[in-house]
Amino acid sequence: MIVALLALSFGSLPTNLVSNPSFDLAADHKTPDGYVLTGKAAWVWTGYADEIVTPGIALSAYGADGSVSQMVRNIDPQKGKWIRFSFRGLPEDNFAVGKDRLYMKIDFYSKSGTNYQDSAERLIYREVEKDRRDLTVNGDYGKGGAAVWRTYEFEELLPFAETDSIKITVGFANGASKTETKSSFFIDDFTLTQNSQSSRGSTDPADAKTPATGPEPSTDGMIRLGGRWYYRPLPSENVSADANGLLKGGLRVTEDNAARLFYRDDRLVNPFAANMGAWLRKGYLDLNGNLVTKDRYVPDNVTLTFNGGQTLVVRARNIPNHPTAKFPDTYGTQGYNPSYIQEHDYTYYLPLEPARNPQAISMTAHDENGALPMGSVGFAVNGVVFYNPFDAGMQDASSIMDRCCGHPSPDNRYHYHKYPVCVNTPFVDKGESHSPVIGFAFDGFPVYGPYESKGVMARDATTNALNAFNVHYDAVRGWHYHVTPGKFPYIVGGYFGKVDMRNFQRGPRP
Ligand SMILES: [Zn+2]
Ligand SMILES: [Zn+2]
Repeated sequence: MIVALLALSFGSLPTNLVSNPSFDLAADHKTPDGYVLTGKAAWVWTGYADEIVTPGIALSAYGADGSVSQMVRNIDPQKGKWIRFSFRGLPEDNFAVGKDRLYMKIDFYSKSGTNYQDSAERLIYREVEKDRRDLTVNGDYGKGGAAVWRTYEFEELLPFAETDSIKITVGFANGASKTETKSSFFIDDFTLTQNSQSSRGSTDPADAKTPATGPEPSTDGMIRLGGRWYYRPLPSENVSADANGLLKGGLRVTEDNAARLFYRDDRLVNPFAANMGAWLRKGYLDLNGNLVTKDRYVPDNVTLTFNGGQTLVVRARNIPNHPTAKFPDTYGTQGYNPSYIQEHDYTYYLPLEPARNPQAISMTAHDENGALPMGSVGFAVNGVVFYNPFDAGMQDASSIMDRCCGHPSPDNRYHYHKYPVCVNTPFVDKGESHSPVIGFAFDGFPVYGPYESKGVMARDATTNALNAFNVHYDAVRGWHYHVTPGKFPYIVGGYFGKVDMRNFQRGPRP
């Protein structure tokens, strides 16, 4: 049932070829249907009693090795030569392996999966270690920063025209955990897609004559929506442009067409694709304030409307599309937060051409100058709001958060005070180059992830350093914010640009 719903609602995105991708089904109650487990791998609830958990796999490095894999059949090379394998993973604090042996592997087969052809492997333990080093301050109470869900990916070219089956595996060897407690690497959401172009802007050496600059090499044939936004309509779609190629009439972007909406970064990206739907989980509250008793998929958690004018209108139900802690918190791990995560119905107005505000002021240490209002100051690409660093009583709230860096406020609104590592971005941030867009401030300027360049966080950059707003400028991206893990103001240090007054739902602070 769940699988069928997702398949329908993500109709325009590349199809996930994995069966039972969220590990829900296990006829024998031991091994999830469609998967093979080896060594220290077990089907579990991936999380703790104080969290909203989903089924998945735990690889415990308190053993020597372990793996989870699935053989995906009926691959047709005609449907795209780029294979993208991704999954959501969470390394617990005591998970450790020797010689970097936490890996993703892709094996290629022909003759209906009976003839092994070749394999490709990517080691991902260094990413875990890097996150532990770079993001510790971002975690619960300033520790365990890497123990959050994030997406790991592996993209490869299909090597042979005869390939008809692909085995995808996540595994480890040289287990080096000194204790069984918190020794696992949790795994959820296996995804395998076939794409005609690389999602990372890579080129097939065979195509070297026509170098591509990204997944969408040019905006030819696209409709301009204003600012940095573009849309590639299907031939059957009734979306038209004026003589200048600018949108005429309105365009509503939903889960169904988000993959055709592009934002011009250093390449063309679609930040909202795969981020517009969310599960309203058992234990949350619905729009009317009623307790949800059964998980329900909400396809329109985020919708966008372009009108060929100056403003992007965003409707958001503010349901997180990633795991969360349980709220109200009765375990004490979230400061006994008494609020719920609730579905809402908010509208935000973003200028398509953000403009600097010459009168802009940045926050002082405790926002004594009221530079940022309390409550929402922007939103991540999954529609969940960013707050300034403070909760009621002007307490710095950046430490008391769940493992996806969020928690609900007294009005039952889930929000982030700092870099939400769990939010899906159009490409996975390995810290190897400038981070991707993860959201927008209400002044319309984009908010990027933490990295400015390979291995350098924007917060530490000495050339082109961030200003007190957490903003800097480059010729490709224009003015933009960065999140700054462990460093005030964490997300937005004040509105650098002009804000549509309709976004001040609670009014500016007096
Ligand atoms: Zn808060
Ligand atoms: Zn930057």
